[in-house]
Amino acid sequence: MNSRLALFRRRAVGALASVLVTVTLAGQTPAPGGPAENETAATRSPEDPQLVWTPNHVVLVSKEVAPAVFAVFPDDAAAKNAAGVPVATSGGFVIGDNGVLVIESMLNRRLAEQMLALIRAQTAKPILYLVNTSYHGDHSYGNQFFPAGVQIVQHVATQAYIQTHFAADVAFMMQYFGRNSGMDELRPQRAQILLQDGARVQFELGNKSVQVLHLGFAQTDGDLFVWLPAEKVIFTGNPIISDGPSLPWLLDGKMDASLTTMRKLLALLPRDAVVVPGHGRPTGIAAIEYPIGYLEELKRQVSAAIADGLTEAETVQRLAVSMTRYAGYKIFPWVHSQINVPKTYQELKKGT
Ligand SMILES: [Zn+2]
Repeated sequence: MNSRLALFRRRAVGALASVLVTVTLAGQTPAPGGPAENETAATRSPEDPQLVWTPNHVVLVSKEVAPAVFAVFPDDAAAKNAAGVPVATSGGFVIGDNGVLVIESMLNRRLAEQMLALIRAQTAKPILYLVNTSYHGDHSYGNQFFPAGVQIVQHVATQAYIQTHFAADVAFMMQYFGRNSGMDELRPQRAQILLQDGARVQFELGNKSVQVLHLGFAQTDGDLFVWLPAEKVIFTGNPIISDGPSLPWLLDGKMDASLTTMRKLLALLPRDAVVVPGHGRPTGIAAIEYPIGYLEELKRQVSAAIADGLTEAETVQRLAVSMTRYAGYKIFPWVHSQINVPKTYQELKKGT
């Protein structure tokens, strides 16, 4: 990450912390888990209101969303998604006759081991592939805790980022997720299977076929989607955060490219597809339509503000008020006013 972006992110994160203090969720009822989850739940830490979400609080559960296709998500996802509160990372796994394909390795040893335990609760078959939908640490830092011989699947841009920015990225993630979250032992890992732009690669697990797709820039240069056409299940990673009122985080800008990619994603899916988002419970394609609607309106309103001769600060001010119908996402003041609007203003201003 360049230093300007790093500075921007540091400021944005500082501002996020002040927003998060006001975000708490009382009386949530976690989904019931199996014996392993209950054991983990007994050791969970309380939530730290200064963090986006608290890694040591997370307990992952699995749900079979199609035969031998499992979503893995935090036990408090349903309550938090509905309330617009940020949730820890989701992923999943697919069990075929020959072995298992896993989506996401999570943030640290504690969460990677929960993912592995959920897999082992279902099957003793070998893990063949591990797909990271982006370089973001909460999706990929757990790679080093997977058994030797597992083939890691990434986009080339994801691997390039990991090999060149790892230490800075871990330092950045510690600001979001705390210094006591098990990130000291992380080391950059090599991927064995690298996908290029526009890739559509099919992985055969015996009786199950899994497609890994690169549809373009969505939130990073290397976003991958995992698609099971026969089972009609899509794993999206970060580009689709969750159902409920969550919004895209345009940390790296490129609103227009992101909108194009999300429209491509939606066009690919049947109406009854199961969507396993990057940070929430399994849901349907409304979770893709909602952020597309938001980005379309963001684009329209920022374009109008530029046409009216408004500065970036004036545009932020105007859209903080004119787009409050999206304020159900509790971090709206941060993600909308401090990330998405300024990034979109800079992008569209360049084009004028
Ligand atoms: Zn994420």
